[in-house]
Order: sequence, then structure tokens, then C-alpha cells
Amino acid sequence: MRVRFHGAAGEVTGSCHEVEAAGHRLLLDCGMIQGSIDDEHRNFEPFPFIIDGIGAVVLSHAHIDHCGRLPVLVARGYQGPIWTHVATADLLRIMLEDAASLAEMDAMQDNKHRRDGHAHHKPLFTRADVGKVLKLVRPIGYGKATEILPGVTLTLRDAGHILGSASVELRAREGEGERVLVFSGDLGPKGTPILRDAEPVPQADLLLLESTYGGRAHRDRESTLAEIGDVLESAWNAGGNVLIPAFAVGRSQELLYWFARNWDEWNMARWKIFLDSPMATKVVGVYDDHESLFDQDAQAVWRGRPHPFRLPNLNFSVEVEESRAINDHRGGAIIIAGSGMCNGGRIRHHLRQNLGRRETHVMFVGYQANGTLGRRLVDGAREVKLFGESVHVNAQLHTVGGLSAHADQPALVDWYGQVGNRPPVVLVHGEDDARDSLAGALRKQHGADVMLVRPGMEVDV
Ligand code: ZN
Repeated sequence: MRVRFHGAAGEVTGSCHEVEAAGHRLLLDCGMIQGSIDDEHRNFEPFPFIIDGIGAVVLSHAHIDHCGRLPVLVARGYQGPIWTHVATADLLRIMLEDAASLAEMDAMQDNKHRRDGHAHHKPLFTRADVGKVLKLVRPIGYGKATEILPGVTLTLRDAGHILGSASVELRAREGEGERVLVFSGDLGPKGTPILRDAEPVPQADLLLLESTYGGRAHRDRESTLAEIGDVLESAWNAGGNVLIPAFAVGRSQELLYWFARNWDEWNMARWKIFLDSPMATKVVGVYDDHESLFDQDAQAVWRGRPHPFRLPNLNFSVEVEESRAINDHRGGAIIIAGSGMCNGGRIRHHLRQNLGRRETHVMFVGYQANGTLGRRLVDGAREVKLFGESVHVNAQLHTVGGLSAHADQPALVDWYGQVGNRPPVVLVHGEDDARDSLAGALRKQHGADVMLVRPGMEVDV
């Protein structure tokens, strides 16, 4: 067995690893490269491997940096199966259709701005390409060993990162023996809300381990929740609205879960709550279909009152008019909307309406990348541009850390420690600082043999 690294080797997007096993070639993930315009242009380039002869794709979870180039792969000739968890298959449709709409819209706007009339900018992929991907998906459950190619067996285990997320175990018959490759996928933090914690892996000959937050320790969850309660209280006292930019998958549903859990303590009944995101609303439907994947805590909350997704004061705004009607609320409303970093989506309309008011509170509950509007706000910009208009920032801004969907360094080191035979480990899906720091911790605490790879490098299993 052998692994060749193509993406998310020294960075956190574009996850893609090629595996040779039992005489076959297969891919682990086929993710989109995200970041600057230059970075994103790399998605249009040829794949660094030959598509012809790839026998299978295994997808760890539905985040776009893991699945976003599947439509490109299929448009360029891949026709084999795409193995993934059942819940990921459901989320995949929502994620890819949304990405295709955005790509089609971008291309249209780009072409409108061109005057030469012939330099047409094509979308990275279309909704038709997405349809072809969905036909190839082979959904399976956790813990069921499945022969995906002659001599190659796949087992998915819960990774506790987002709904349906999985660690991937590949066993390959080679010669007389068997080799085992484990890819962690993205791992959730300990005690992650709603989902079960990442399952341990019994044994591996080589482990590919994510390292997104390999260099830090998260703030504890109790104080994070106390902070959310405090922000809501002061917003209520000030008489303003609360704006929460949030990703459609995971964080939006998690917020509703925390509201239900702290219903009395945070006096949630007095608010009007808006989930102003058609995509997050669709994802709520997928959660409804997969309650059996929830942890015990969440199952108890779901059995109690109020149900997180049926809060008596919760409104799902799907249509544009419903979203616009939220503007009538000048106070007493909690508005959850995307995008999570304010670089697009409906949150920008709410920011335009509310940022100028002193009584507004904006709560950032996720990472704000460099160059995004969210980051500028968090960094203290007093004036921002929205829809061509300057808006003065009078609102109160709060950054609530500690709700990450990724394991931190102590959790990653512990997860590694549970792998019985302490295998050699390749760190993927992390920037250099995070990888270096995690490598040091793994060597020190477990005497691990740690490798840092770059795109194009190969490692034997
Ligand atoms: Zn992820």
C-alpha cells in the first residue's frame, strides 16, 4: 500500500490523497481549494493524478474542502463509486448544489462585466455535474466493513466533526498479509454537542491525522456558554437585535441546541429567533432524519421540551420576502444567518440594517479568516462597506471562542494515544505552525514517528 499526497498537505483546504492498494488506485476525499482568488483558481487546473484507472473514491465528510471538486472529477471522466456515510450523502447534495449555484452566479456576473464579449468565464461546475456525482454515491453506515474493490475493505467510524463525518480505515490484502491505512478525516472536539465523540481506531500500519488546531488548546465549553448567556442578557437589556453569522452546516443547528438546553437559564422565550438561511433550514431536515447518530445528551434534549428545531419562537425564513420582513424588528430578535464569515449571504443585509445601531449585538461564534468582512469587524473596523454603501459600526461586537468543530492539540494527542500499536503518523490538514507543534507533542508524549508531507510526496504503508 502507498499514499500520495495531493492536497491539504501543509494547508487546510483541498483535501485529497491517492492510495494504491491491492493493485488498485483510489482517492480519499476530493476537496475544493479555498482562500484567495489565486488559490481558488487552482481548482480549475488539471488534477495531479491520472483520473483513468481510479477505482473508487472514499469521502470522509461533506465539508466543501473535502468534497467540492467531486463534480470536476466526474465532469472530467470519473465514473466509479463514491463511498461515504449515509448522512454525508444527504448533506453532500445540499453542499454541492449550493456551491454550483454560487459558481454559476459568479460566472454570470463575471461575464456581464467583460466587454470583449468572447473571454467567457465558465463556472467550476454546474448543477448538472452535481447530479452526476450524486448518482455515483454509495452510502454506508459506521462500523460496517465493506469490500469496495477486490481485496480492499473500507470501514467508516464516527469522527464527531459534523453530521456523518467519518474516519476512514482501509484494509488491503497484499501478498500473504494485510496492511491497514487509517485516515482520521476531520476530528471533532471532546464533548462535541449533538454528535458522538470521535471513535477510537484499534490499530493501523499508517495513520493520516488532521492537524487544523494541532497548535492550540480550546477554551473550555462551560465558560464559552456562560459568555453566550451574558451577551444575550446585555443585548436584551439594551433593547437591540442579536446577529449571529453562522455556517449552515453544524454551527446553526448547534446554536438552536444550546438555546433549547439553556431555555430557562437564558430566558429564551422572550426573543424572536430567526434562522434566516434556506441552506441551514435544509440541513435541519437532514438532522431530523439522522437522530440515531446523536449522543445521549442530545437524545435527552430532543425528547424533552422544547425541541431544538421546533422552538415556539423560532422562524425559518426561506423566501427572500421572509428575510426582508425581519428588518421590521428593531429589537428583541436573534438572527442567525450565513455566511459564517460575512463575505456573502443574508447576514450582510442584516449587518447593513443593524450595525449602525448602538443597541445591536453581533456575536461571532466561528473562525473569521483574513480578508473577510467578519475579520475586519472583529479587528475593530469603525466603518465598513456593504452593498456599495458605507456603514458606521456602532454595534457591540463579541467574539465567542471555544465552539470549534475541530479537536485541539490535547484531544488529537489523546486520539492518537488510543490507537493500540502507536503507528507512524503523517500530519495532514494543518498549516505548518500547527503541524510542527502537534508533531512535537506526539513525539514527546507517545514517542510517535511523525512525518510532515508536501503535495506530490509518497509514503509507503
Ligand atoms: Zn471539515
